[in-house]
Amino acid sequence: MHRFDYFAPTTVAEAVNILRSQGEGGKVIAGGTDLVPQMKERGRHPKYVVSLNRIPEIQGIEVRNGQGLRVGAATRCWAIRNHPVVVEQYNILAQGAALIGSIQTQNLATIGGNVCNAIPSADAVPAFIVAGAQARIIGPNGQRTVPLEEVFVGPNRTILAPDEILTDLLIPAPLPRSAGVYLRHCPRKELDIAIAGVGSYVQLDEAKATFTHARICLSAVAPVPLRAPRAEAALIGKPATAETIAAAAQVAAEEARPITDMRGTVEFRRHLVKVLTERTVTQSVEQIRARA
Ligand SMILES: Cc1cc2nc3c(=O)[nH]c(=O)nc-3n(C[C@H](O)[C@H](O)[C@H](O)COP(=O)(O)OP(=O)(O)OC[C@H]3O[C@@H](n4cnc5c(N)ncnc54)[C@H](O)[C@@H]3O)c2cc1C
Repeated sequence: MHRFDYFAPTTVAEAVNILRSQGEGGKVIAGGTDLVPQMKERGRHPKYVVSLNRIPEIQGIEVRNGQGLRVGAATRCWAIRNHPVVVEQYNILAQGAALIGSIQTQNLATIGGNVCNAIPSADAVPAFIVAGAQARIIGPNGQRTVPLEEVFVGPNRTILAPDEILTDLLIPAPLPRSAGVYLRHCPRKELDIAIAGVGSYVQLDEAKATFTHARICLSAVAPVPLRAPRAEAALIGKPATAETIAAAAQVAAEEARPITDMRGTVEFRRHLVKVLTERTVTQSVEQIRARA
């Protein structure tokens, strides 16, 4: 590993100021589970790194009664998967976080790192997107809040300027009679990268018979985590039956934009999207119907 300077600010304002004043060639570091291997083995040599680990304002989960959650960008995946309110009311977020590496990895890995590393197979990202997350970003010119799906530009590329920091993810309160599920397919059960993944979040009407809302996000089948708007439209207003779900899953497979690589072919990935969409939507419906 090459030499670099290390900064450990205690506020976001201080961190942004360091990034602005030190200029090009810096990197933010949170858990380091993506960045450190890149620095050791993959030719990334930042001049300096700015750690987020001593900034309390971007750590932890705030339950904003009736108004959803605020998840600090430097919150560890282990804390997300084990938070009682997340597990109970926002379970899809816990599912995404729980798939990241091993328990040891999750103790370091942050949600902000999963977002900002911006790989198409990031597991927590589709879960947060279908839960309706907004990303708050702070830089020298102030703050902006954008839908999480709009953060991604391409593999390892986001809309963040080099002197901006992702500070929080804001998740709205769950809709009544709604549920979400994220599933991925990997050759190995753990410590592997998804060949494809699907997060689905649906709402049913009062009779629990018709879809009234749907969000679907596909991972590892496009340069960015990909919303599937035509598949969502194929559910909304339709009876919540196996036939409707199978038809929407077929549409999702058509909306995917996969490539063939060492992990899988275009055809295999489309097949996985179909199967995983069918499973995630079906399981979400089952969860809603199982509730009193
Ligand atoms: C053994 C192992 C297994 C893994 N398995 C999985 C897996 O199954 N699924 C999966 O999705 N990932 C996996 N990962 C990847 C990684 O753990 C996750 O992406 C993790 O969430 C990254 O978080 P971090 O805090 O470690 O990020 P870091 O490495 O600290 O940062 C990653 C990138 O994001 C930037 N960054 C971080 N936080 C911010 C912020 N708040 N604002 C602006 N930029 C920021 C950094 O500059 C860097 O470019 C694995 C990693 C390892 C080592």
